[in-house]
Amino acid sequence: MTEPHVVILGGGPAGVGAAYRLRKQKLARVTLIEQKESFGGNAGSFEHAGMFLDYGSHRLHHSTEPEILADIRSMLGDDLQDRPRNGRIRLRGRWVRFPLSGPDLLLRLDKAFAIGAARDMILRAIPRTPKQPAAFRGAPPETFAEVLREKLGPTICDHFYYPYARKLWGHEPSELSGIQAQRRVSANSFGKLLKKIVKPTGGGKFYYPRRGFGQISEAYGRTAGELGAELCMGYKVERLIAPKAPGQPFTVEASKNGERRAFVADHVLSTLPVSLVARMYEPGAPSEVLEAAKRIDYRAMVLVYLELDVDQFTTTDAHYLPEQNVRMTRLSEPKNYFGLSEPKGRTVLCAEIPCTVEDDIWSMDDDALGRLVADDIRKLELPLLRPPVRAFARRLRQAYPIYLNGYEEPFGKLDAWANSLPGFTSYGRQGLFAHDNTHHALFMANCAVECLKSGRFDDAEWQKYREIFKTHVVED
Ligand SMILES: Cc1cc2nc3c(=O)[nH]c(=O)nc-3n(C[C@H](O)[C@H](O)[C@H](O)COP(=O)(O)OP(=O)(O)OC[C@H]3O[C@@H](n4cnc5c(N)ncnc54)[C@H](O)[C@@H]3O)c2cc1C
Repeated sequence: MTEPHVVILGGGPAGVGAAYRLRKQKLARVTLIEQKESFGGNAGSFEHAGMFLDYGSHRLHHSTEPEILADIRSMLGDDLQDRPRNGRIRLRGRWVRFPLSGPDLLLRLDKAFAIGAARDMILRAIPRTPKQPAAFRGAPPETFAEVLREKLGPTICDHFYYPYARKLWGHEPSELSGIQAQRRVSANSFGKLLKKIVKPTGGGKFYYPRRGFGQISEAYGRTAGELGAELCMGYKVERLIAPKAPGQPFTVEASKNGERRAFVADHVLSTLPVSLVARMYEPGAPSEVLEAAKRIDYRAMVLVYLELDVDQFTTTDAHYLPEQNVRMTRLSEPKNYFGLSEPKGRTVLCAEIPCTVEDDIWSMDDDALGRLVADDIRKLELPLLRPPVRAFARRLRQAYPIYLNGYEEPFGKLDAWANSLPGFTSYGRQGLFAHDNTHHALFMANCAVECLKSGRFDDAEWQKYREIFKTHVVED
């Protein structure tokens, strides 16, 4: 029997994970198409001034499934290290350890905030009676604002989650779906918050590769190539041409520097944004699907890198910045993720600024972005001793899916349509419009490959896996 030809669209973790596993198990002939020259997508890295820089703070969490971790370890060896987390969060003008720690909270937290949060927690622990605050009565909470206020009370919401949400997703918390609170906020109740303080997730540790987070995807992609996958790097997928009749293959058209190639696929595994898939599909997706594609949106992000002429900026790996007085949401120092002392006399900071592609931020030049971030750093009273040697930016068009109230309706239409295409599976962060971590994307890849084991895609099995994906909660 000839091997089926599986064409994988996208070389982020979801794409390279499937390519690696399909070839390792010799289940199919594989072609992977990626528009960039490197693997990793949003979870990739690049080299600058002798350092590996990520697209914003990335860590591999301890909750990674053992099978996936074993694969990563087999490819990275000692290059994958177990590192202690060393973050800080700015709350009401003070720095507090992040992930939160009990003694530090007691010592450093602003007293009014601590008393307010304690009062909210006690109120929520008392059995509910009709005399209790309005937050406990009436219709069940539905929006991001309602879900978190019900569970955590006004103090933590008003001073932390609501301002952070406005910056991260660019919308009022009342405009965001409650599902965003369930999938994106792992400490979404006092019980979970206390558990995290007493016993931090992953024991307060994380895995990180020597050559940046992107080394994980690079290793998957390179190994898939060594196992026989055809890797088409720098090719942008432009058209998805439907099979002429049931059982016939799909055709994927992609181009690089004006050179066009057509790939005939028995099965397509797509990690591209599902809204883009609807627009590229020929002979054309139904009009209601194209309309639905316009009604789901991703938050974009500008990453501003500041090169400094010092060994180290601070010992902190990431500063989390929910407050409104600065534009960035996080400032990380990549050298600290692996504890590197080289190169001497140089370090780079990475500032994450969520935005839309229409914002002034998106089109701002490197120097102006550098000044904006340097101003933010000064507002935070962090030790920027001299102006940065260099500032430059990278841009992510699809950083975070935005779950607006009622987004399930347009996404459901798109998803149902993509699911109905024979010989085609949409998955990964962009394909399922999912808030996820890299280990979730790799898990989805493994599940998609499981479904291809019999030679034809097992739809019933895939729907079972889809239910598991819904339980994934993002870790920061
Ligand atoms: C700021 C930030 C911080 C994060 N921090 C963490 C963290 O600490 N830990 C963690 O585990 N996860 C983290 N994540 C999440 C992580 O980045 C994602 O889970 C992961 O990138 C998802 O992989 P994916 O393959 O599904 O999607 P993507 O990484 O988005 O990959 C999709 C790929 O498709 C390619 N593509 C798109 N269109 C085309 C086209 N037309 N033709 C060809 N190729 C195309 C893209 O170039 C890209 O390579 C973070 C994400 C962000 C934005």
